[in-house]
Amino acid sequence: MKKDVLYIVVPCYNEQEVLPITTERLREQLKTMIDAQLVGEESRILYVNDGSIDSTWQIIEEHAREHKDVCGVKLAGNVGHQNALMAGLEAACERADIIISIDADLQDDVKVMTEMVEKYHQGCDIVYGVRRERKTDTWFKRNSALAFYKLMRRLGVKSIYNHADYRLMSRRAVQQLMNYRERNLFLRGIVPLVGYRTDSVYYDRTERMAGESKYPLSKMLNFAVNGITSFSIKPVRMVLTLGILFTLIALGILIYVLIAYFSGRTVSGWASLILSLWFIGGCVLIGLGIVGEYIGKIYIEVKDRPRYNVEKEIMQ
Ligand code: UDP
Ligand code: MG
Repeated sequence: MKKDVLYIVVPCYNEQEVLPITTERLREQLKTMIDAQLVGEESRILYVNDGSIDSTWQIIEEHAREHKDVCGVKLAGNVGHQNALMAGLEAACERADIIISIDADLQDDVKVMTEMVEKYHQGCDIVYGVRRERKTDTWFKRNSALAFYKLMRRLGVKSIYNHADYRLMSRRAVQQLMNYRERNLFLRGIVPLVGYRTDSVYYDRTERMAGESKYPLSKMLNFAVNGITSFSIKPVRMVLTLGILFTLIALGILIYVLIAYFSGRTVSGWASLILSLWFIGGCVLIGLGIVGEYIGKIYIEVKDRPRYNVEKEIMQ
């Protein structure tokens, strides 16, 4: 019987320091799985170069020349982690039965891939890699991530706690995923919507092998705002609730002002009036900001731009 072909998709943005180790580790893992007859001989590592400005692509080309199991896709420019990942999934989907996505920095334990593939053979279409602990992350990163997951849950977005983009998907799951045509990609939120039988495997997250994080605070915040506004309309509802609350408060103030007027103490009411003026003004602005966020999204979706343009491909 023909064994299922596995493609390991790795988005890379300026990862020249870490790529040599990554290729070595991933090839080792791939070989272990091929030897154990878990996956077929035609299995590959597929790097997606997300418009790196260092020598990442040259290194990928070199590795592809040296090793038959290394492939690469070069995007024409930097489109961000999520879009680069999607590009890789789409490219891999044509040839693979199983696709695993993992970051280039090897923070996620490659060894649990064996377990993931075993779960696939047991009939799962999606297997999430879940971090058991985040000891090596900084205090700030750990806690900001935790707060984010909690907020997401509150706002009604389905997402797997402590799961990043390390996951296995079957070909049909990826094909389904591609039907989600939105541009504001937040894969962690979309993948659970795909459905099918899912499971998780657990591992300890280690430190980055080399290079530095490509997710500075600004990108993390961006990612969080995107994640929430792409999936939840609760913020808009909150504005509505606030609006009602403020109207009620304004009524109370009106009564107070009338009483003050008839008892001839109008000047003393000035402070509270000015205060509420500012307060309400601020809230209106916040409301407008949130609504604007959604309108911005509609704007981008309506333009229906391609997610990426492939410049070159090495497939062997
Ligand atoms: N990445 C990418 N495009 C970007 C930023 C990051 O493809 O614009 C890749 C990066 O090369 C890595 C993965 O996304 O493989 C995760 O990035 P990183 O490890 O820097 O994020 P962190 O683990 O610090 O959240
Ligand atoms: Mg990382």
